[in-house]
Amino acid sequence: FMSKLPNVGTTIFSVMSALAAQHKAINLSQGFPDFDCDEQLKRMVTEAMEEGYNQYAPMPGIMPLREVIASKIYSLYQQQVNPDTEITITPGGTYAIFTAIATCINPGDEVIIFEPAYDSYIPNVLVNGGVPVLIPLSFPDYTIDWSLVRSKITDRTKMIMINTPHNPTASILTAADIEALQDIVTAHNLLVLSDEVYEHLIFDGAQHLSILRYPELLQRSFVTFSFGKVFHNTGWKMGYCVAPAHLMAEYRKVHQYLCFSVSTPMQYGLSRYLQTPEHYLSLPAFYQQKRDYFLELMRDTRFTPLSSKGSYFQLMQYDRISDEGDKDFATRITKEFGVACIPVSAFYESAKDDHVVRFCFAKKRETLEQAAERLRKM
Ligand code: GLN
Repeated sequence: FMSKLPNVGTTIFSVMSALAAQHKAINLSQGFPDFDCDEQLKRMVTEAMEEGYNQYAPMPGIMPLREVIASKIYSLYQQQVNPDTEITITPGGTYAIFTAIATCINPGDEVIIFEPAYDSYIPNVLVNGGVPVLIPLSFPDYTIDWSLVRSKITDRTKMIMINTPHNPTASILTAADIEALQDIVTAHNLLVLSDEVYEHLIFDGAQHLSILRYPELLQRSFVTFSFGKVFHNTGWKMGYCVAPAHLMAEYRKVHQYLCFSVSTPMQYGLSRYLQTPEHYLSLPAFYQQKRDYFLELMRDTRFTPLSSKGSYFQLMQYDRISDEGDKDFATRITKEFGVACIPVSAFYESAKDDHVVRFCFAKKRETLEQAAERLRKM
């Protein structure tokens, strides 16, 4: 038996969360909230269970959920998406991404991935026989050099993966990025996989430039979303994928034999919760407040913040504290100072190390206060 992923170890999120637990550290590493999701949403799920929605959902998801997603898409992005043929409910965003890759990547197909990259992308491509073509984002603003992208296109290039708001860097794509992307993918007939799991977590009045806004791009795209990331219930593993009907038909061929369908009562609960737009329209302000509070608390430390435009992550440089590598640094501050974070080199195939770590600020005020108090001692 030959490993399909010989160079892959355990995901950094499991590693750092385990280290945090072992040392009873405040866990600002793996991205999940330490506060509970909305009582109303929980009630809507339990009500659905009591109403007897406890058997298999339809393979693409229940219609009421797909319909309310379609109306959300129309009101936010002015795009008419057909809930019958263009939306599939998935067990989480990570699954939605894997399934898109499994649907269209054949052995030898090249996939353009920007680094630092969310840690599942490269293994997802490799396990499907694809070839990741890695392009570094510029440091320290983590923007895309599109001329570099053009220079990496070959006749084997099949897909470009984008992620906005971006994990781990908290950067977002601009209108100019979208324009460049559109030029390239139409000129070379490429697919796009757009990871938009932090859709509603965007700050300072910026607009989320979803691929769903751009009909020409959408025609060749899979766009993936997460309920866990935006509604504070990462443990529910609920998400969805949007794609034009001709791509979605292929996606469902794979999906039906991977998990077939997704938790029925949770779909009913979410479909009812989404009837109230305020539940997602309030999210940018909610998380911007957390970002700002975390930044304010960290001002008295020797960390230097980079810009966080979206997601619930804040990158910090630690050059003024230490010249250790970021993995050693993250391990040491977990053990010695009791705060866990993620070393950003974990998101580079080459382990490129800019002495930057990622903190998750999806936490209660008192958690952020305690963490900052500990980090002030460094
Ligand atoms: N997306 C989360 C993060 O970036 C982690 C999810 C996971 O642990 N697989 O921290």
